[in-house]
Amino acid sequence: VAQYDVVSIRNDFPILEREIFGKPLVYLDNAASTQHPVQVINAVKDLYENNYSNVHRGVHTLSQESTNLYDGARVAVRGFINAACVHEVIFTRGATESINLVAQSYARPRLQKGDEILITHMEHHSNIVPWQMVCEQTGAELKVVPISDKGELEMDRFAELLTEKTKLVSVVHVSNALGTVNPVKQIIDAAHAVGVPVLVDGAQAVPHIPVDVKALDADFYVFSGHKIYGPTGVGVLYGKERLLSEMPPYQGGGDMILSVSFEKTTYNQLPYKFEAGTPNIAGVVGLGAAIHYVQKIGLPAIAAHEHGLLEYATHKLEEIDGLRIIGKAGQKAGLISFVLDAVHPHDIGTMLDGEGVAVRAGHHCAQPVMERYGVPATARASFAMYNTFHEIDMLAEAIQKTIQMFE
Ligand code: PMP
Repeated sequence: VAQYDVVSIRNDFPILEREIFGKPLVYLDNAASTQHPVQVINAVKDLYENNYSNVHRGVHTLSQESTNLYDGARVAVRGFINAACVHEVIFTRGATESINLVAQSYARPRLQKGDEILITHMEHHSNIVPWQMVCEQTGAELKVVPISDKGELEMDRFAELLTEKTKLVSVVHVSNALGTVNPVKQIIDAAHAVGVPVLVDGAQAVPHIPVDVKALDADFYVFSGHKIYGPTGVGVLYGKERLLSEMPPYQGGGDMILSVSFEKTTYNQLPYKFEAGTPNIAGVVGLGAAIHYVQKIGLPAIAAHEHGLLEYATHKLEEIDGLRIIGKAGQKAGLISFVLDAVHPHDIGTMLDGEGVAVRAGHHCAQPVMERYGVPATARASFAMYNTFHEIDMLAEAIQKTIQMFE
């Protein structure tokens, strides 16, 4: 087995050479957004320098080249998540837009008073608010699976809350606030046994663990480009063809039609039906390059490396007096949320920045999680394929220094 070559991976990410306040950057805010390898930067640059034009429109050479690159990214995503076919891959602005699309185009026409949508207590706001909106619009009700003190879903409560009233289950694969990896296969199987479809929010899963939508039998699976080394403003909605075909368009405009007249407009086939208007061409091309990059390194290798970092960091941080880790699930990926007795999370963030260490401090767009554990916010160190064990040492040292400063 080849050694995991973190040095050569780091060489692909120019920003990792940055210094912050004269100290080497230790970038541990990857759950918010990852950095970009030159392969992604160059793919976008090459497009603009050599091939750029609008897609799916022109017969001229540049438009065809742009279209080929754009469609090529869809092929890459299909392979990456093992969708049955390319037209099950819809490009959106991100995980947020993908969830809103499903809420409005799939759920809204099917919901009425008395129906229920089932989510969990550890969802990101983007997997809460779209469902609250559609419940408001239809009179349906939102039900929430509770979480344990360790940060795991209470699966017996899930089983009780899944009833004949449930019309859709929407669940996060990996929690951005706790790092918990949820048993999504088990959830999908249980929901399917009673005929309920499942949306999986994979924003924090795809960068860290291999995902196979066919093996999961997920009905919808969503993620964002910028959390998997790609550009912002681009994301993916995977949906089963049968479901996507039955859904009305989310937005109207160019590209999503076959013909338009004032008497009758007919919609385009999948995936274009859901891609109204000129898409984020460079974003999609960049995402394609990011996926090729991740595949080149290999998700099993990345997952193993990051798991090592997680275990090492957990051990290191647990040794620190007055530090409490929020979220101690048996299955975790990618991150550690923590609080200090003596220092507010925002001050932790500021102090660590002074040491060159970038972490997130806040509620992580998961306020119900903060409420559940009785904390206003947490500090969160989140990992990517390029992080090192030395950087974990730097993190731990910077935390120790912060505590001493506040004593
Ligand atoms: N779900 C999860 C679990 C996330 O972590 C995020 C981003 N923090 C989102 C959804 C939303 O992603 P985006 O803002 O890229 O649409």
